[in-house]
Amino acid sequence: MKKISIIIPCYNEEQAIPYFYKEITKIAKNMKTDFEYIFVNDGSKDKTLDVIKKIAKKDKKVKYIHFSRNFGKESAMYAGLELSTGDYVAIMDADLQDPPALIPEMLSILEDPNEDYDCVGSRRVTRKGEPKIRSFFARQFYKIINKLSKIEMVDGARDFRLMTRQMVNSILELKEYNRYSKGLFSFVGYNTKWLEYENIKRVAGETKWSFWKLFTYAIEGIIAFSTTPLAIAAFIGILFCFIAFILIIIIVVRTLIYGDPTSGWPSLVCIIFFVSGIQLFSLGIIGEYLSKTYLETKKRPIYIIKETNINDHKTI
Ligand code: UDP
Ligand code: MG
Repeated sequence: MKKISIIIPCYNEEQAIPYFYKEITKIAKNMKTDFEYIFVNDGSKDKTLDVIKKIAKKDKKVKYIHFSRNFGKESAMYAGLELSTGDYVAIMDADLQDPPALIPEMLSILEDPNEDYDCVGSRRVTRKGEPKIRSFFARQFYKIINKLSKIEMVDGARDFRLMTRQMVNSILELKEYNRYSKGLFSFVGYNTKWLEYENIKRVAGETKWSFWKLFTYAIEGIIAFSTTPLAIAAFIGILFCFIAFILIIIIVVRTLIYGDPTSGWPSLVCIIFFVSGIQLFSLGIIGEYLSKTYLETKKRPIYIIKETNINDHKTI
């Protein structure tokens, strides 16, 4: 019998997990597939671990990975993928925003001999229930990143997806420290089919993503999958050199014709401010890339496990 591994990154989800477990097992019961649930407790500050352990005691299919601190959802997903053993692997949020009811459909698409899909992803077609300003910036982000990067990022794509073992293994080959999964999923290629659904509100608890967290995540995505900002910095530099060159010629010619009355001091200050602003901005862009490279060269572990009921895991 084929097995599906479900990976659930959890951060302070003590309220949502029981609902999630109830729903997913309801779906699993009606399927002819074996299941394995890997709850990754990403350093929660509430009783998430106890809740998972209680479920794991009753159900052998429930596995847990408990991190030594909060490493972020990206790390939690990676850990889950590494320790999963299923022929198919799904990643799902604990808050039921990713409807478990889609799993049978996803599986039938992957198993369809007439189709050649390696992954079925899910896409929200609406952002109902989300703050308007957040939706606006999210949309702008996808527009920008798709212009800057060769890797296609699908607007509204969730991390919720069912993948074949082959695709999971390819993702695990990408061992970078600064992980931006939406890009990594695209990077590995394979054929993905998108299922669309309306946004669903989380069943309990609160979103862990503040505006600032999302903003830095967006920057991370751009830095990880595009070097265009570096080229933009260089382009602005060249453009300004060119403008300066033209201005010098104009000033020299004007001085030769009209003499040199001392004026233009305010405009000079403005220009100095503007140009130094551009310089610092460009330095900042280079700094972002440098800092990512710096972290990458340290080869720190992506996650650290404090406790798990999965036997054959590597420590770290
Ligand atoms: N999550 C996590 N680590 C974090 C933040 C979030 O494992 O540092 C998990 C969280 O428990 C949830 C999923 O990632 O299962 C998505 O988070 P959330 O629902 O807060 O995001 P949203 O759906 O609002 O984008
Ligand atoms: Mg959610």
